[in-house]
Amino acid sequence: MSEMFCFQCEQTAGGKGCTQMGACGKKPEVANKQDELTAELISLARAASDKAAGKVADTLILQGLFATVTNVNFDAGRIEELIRLVKAEKVRLANGAADFAVEDLWEGNQDIVSLRSTLLLGLRGMAAYAWHAHILGKESEEVTNWFYKGLRALGEEHTAEEWLNLLMEFGMVNLKCMALLDEANTSTYGHPVPTSVPTLIEKGPFIVITGHDLHDLKQLLEQTQGKGVAVYTHGEMLPAHAYPELKKYSHLKGNFGTAWQNQQKEFDTIPAPILFTTNCLMPPKASYSDRVFTTDVVGYPGLAHIAEQNGKKDFTLVIEKALELGGWKEDNQLTGINGGTQLITGFGRNAVLGVADKVIAAVKGGAIKHFFLVGGCDGAKPGRNYYTEFVQQAPKDTVVLTLACGKFRFNDLNLGDIGGIPRILDMGQCNDAYSAIQVAVALANAFECDVNSLPLTLVLSWYEQKAVCILLTLLALGIKNIYIGPSLPAFLSSNVLGILVEKFGLKPISTPAEDLKAILG
Ligand code: SF4
Repeated sequence: MSEMFCFQCEQTAGGKGCTQMGACGKKPEVANKQDELTAELISLARAASDKAAGKVADTLILQGLFATVTNVNFDAGRIEELIRLVKAEKVRLANGAADFAVEDLWEGNQDIVSLRSTLLLGLRGMAAYAWHAHILGKESEEVTNWFYKGLRALGEEHTAEEWLNLLMEFGMVNLKCMALLDEANTSTYGHPVPTSVPTLIEKGPFIVITGHDLHDLKQLLEQTQGKGVAVYTHGEMLPAHAYPELKKYSHLKGNFGTAWQNQQKEFDTIPAPILFTTNCLMPPKASYSDRVFTTDVVGYPGLAHIAEQNGKKDFTLVIEKALELGGWKEDNQLTGINGGTQLITGFGRNAVLGVADKVIAAVKGGAIKHFFLVGGCDGAKPGRNYYTEFVQQAPKDTVVLTLACGKFRFNDLNLGDIGGIPRILDMGQCNDAYSAIQVAVALANAFECDVNSLPLTLVLSWYEQKAVCILLTLLALGIKNIYIGPSLPAFLSSNVLGILVEKFGLKPISTPAEDLKAILG
């Protein structure tokens, strides 16, 4: 008998769905409460159908959806508390609309469940981006309203064609959400500038901060300043080094470790605390769980949690832990997975478009033959070596744009440059897909063609729901022939996948050599 149902991420059991226990470590109790929370959010959206719901409900929708993203919150008590708050808002807004029945969440015709789930998972991903923008004071009525519309749609009957239209509409709204976050980040911290990040961990006390939340990093940097505690990024926090208002802190020293799926090994003996600001948290081993702190929507039973109070977070406990543990006695030279010791980041849209003339001249002159956007999430499956090999095998007259944590497969490689343009350009976090889209559109304008006619191919790796919302945006923009791997989403039924293949030319990855041959001829 099935204890739970979840098929939202790439590591789902048997490529079909987790039914007894999450492959991510999520227990049935948490999975079932997350379903209940989702049902309550749909009911809340229904209750708000005839009025403006207000800030409390708006915020709860973002938190509630974000808390169900893979590797974010494993704490049944915290999910229960969100359910309680959502219910209270629903009662406050009550308009006589019927509640959505949680039993209906994964039920129905296979293709309709597939389309409905794709929208739900996209909404979960977009909630993470909207939450980060919200924290920096940026909101968009259009994006907020679409959360309500999308949630209500999940509880309605729609034809396959209507669902597809909703998914495309959602994709364009998610583009606006990513633009909002881009504006929030760049107006708060400045435009990223190309920055070389060392992987050397200097002797002495330090803190590792991981996840996507730049505001948490900023607060941590302020609170550690002058205390003899260094700060190192991990995973998706790496691009923070490139923002002027963050890189100005001299104790933001470098990057620790590789991608999220290696954390149980890399954190095992680390003499320092680790602060998780967003996904991707794996169940911590007992050997280091006393050193792991969570904040924001992240949660795990038994871990110390730093909550916001009066608009601020107090990281004293984390700083004290760093001083108590003391760090390493000597400098410790770590490396990326290919042995490299410097990671270059900061090629956001401003930096790339700043050298657009050079890039365009290199393309026109034949020095650059093709661009690849090799980006997305990393994960534990052996098949993900594809992305390292793809980049290694990409011809020397090609440039690789990258973003999100999938880049840890190759971001320590030195592939040289083409006329001063580095062959690997790290554009930032997953949400910086917005930057990549802006660059692609600018190149298309310069060459007076559409994006699909550019010498550009997207080779994406997906893992969790933020990748789902980005993929929907790319499809909504009409971008075709995207390669996706390492495996196809379990929530796409064969018929829905067939539509995406036919309409958008979506392609599963094969081998780097075969795919490069198919792309470059
Ligand atoms: Fe399974 Fe992924 Fe859901 Fe975790 S998030 S329960 S691994 S499908």
